[in-house]
Amino acid sequence: MNSAIILAGGEGKRLGRPKQFLPLAGKPMLHRTLEAFLGLPELKEIVVALGPAYYLDHRKDWSDPRVKVVRAGETRLESLRKAVKALSFKDGLVAVHDGARPLVSPEIIRKCLQEAERHGASVPAVPVKDTIKESKAGSAVLKTLERSRLWAAQTPQCYRKEILLKALKLHGNLRQASDESQLVEKMGVEVRLVPSSYENLKVTTREDLVFAEALLTGSKAFRTGFGYDIHRLVPGIPLWLGGAKIPHDKGLLGHSDGDVLLHAVADSLLGAAALGDIGRYFPPEEEKWKGIPSRSILEKVLELLRSRQARIENLDAVLVAQEPRLRPHYEKIHQSLCGLLKVPQERVNLKAKTQEEMGEIGRGKAIACYAVAAVEI
Ligand code: MG
Repeated sequence: MNSAIILAGGEGKRLGRPKQFLPLAGKPMLHRTLEAFLGLPELKEIVVALGPAYYLDHRKDWSDPRVKVVRAGETRLESLRKAVKALSFKDGLVAVHDGARPLVSPEIIRKCLQEAERHGASVPAVPVKDTIKESKAGSAVLKTLERSRLWAAQTPQCYRKEILLKALKLHGNLRQASDESQLVEKMGVEVRLVPSSYENLKVTTREDLVFAEALLTGSKAFRTGFGYDIHRLVPGIPLWLGGAKIPHDKGLLGHSDGDVLLHAVADSLLGAAALGDIGRYFPPEEEKWKGIPSRSILEKVLELLRSRQARIENLDAVLVAQEPRLRPHYEKIHQSLCGLLKVPQERVNLKAKTQEEMGEIGRGKAIACYAVAAVEI
């Protein structure tokens, strides 16, 4: 039977208060960490080691019968020893995890367990990105370590239970040990590295908390843009809206096909990406753009967005028209617009208003459009 141990006995000296209960995207960090393990049905028991100051307040936080809470010791290894003692199963695998690694994924936990099953001991790790220097008393550099051989060890570190027990028995007096896999290494047991993710970070400092929060909530940056257009409605030419041809005895007059919706949308997208307006790319005074279909204008705008690695998050547009009645054509216009934008239909909203028979639009002499876009950059 496989088990997990979550070490959360720290006092959070660097963050001013116990970090394991700091809210992370609206939930205490330790609860997030534990949820990752509770999501794996193959783990039959999860022992959480809590610092004495928090044990009484939090030992009943979890209703899952697999969770058992014990008092942490003075050091990491002492807490580990107490937690191992509390395990019910004689054998199987044990995953030992830091309570302050709330972003661990079920995939990483599973990969580490599998590797420990095969080889006895495993550690998730990522290649070190910085060049590491060894120093004497933190001042002068003694030497530079060869980065290509260096890995930053994470948790869950996984072991066959008998290996972990033996390591604790033989080398458990190493007070400075920052992880227990080094005890296993000392026994001469090969500890296997499991390539992990940089997202499985240990929240230790204030900025780690910001990174973790950003990773959990999605660190997307959105920009919004606004577009407006108006064209005269005249008899005898086709009416194009959103790239769809709408049956009517009048159409929109323009240098292009007069599609106000596509023009307003294109301008809102260019606005969000701070790329100017469509007049910059298709100057109306240039003869070569005469009669250009508006879908070509939109294609050019999408190409510009792609070159900026910008992605359309959503779009909202309001058509202002006294005639024709647009409601019967909503679906056709919406489908056409989404198809041209290559954006799922639920990300695009379309509305229409009359002008209450006021002004030029109200007398059926023009159609206008307003659009707002959000773009992820
Ligand atoms: Mg226009």
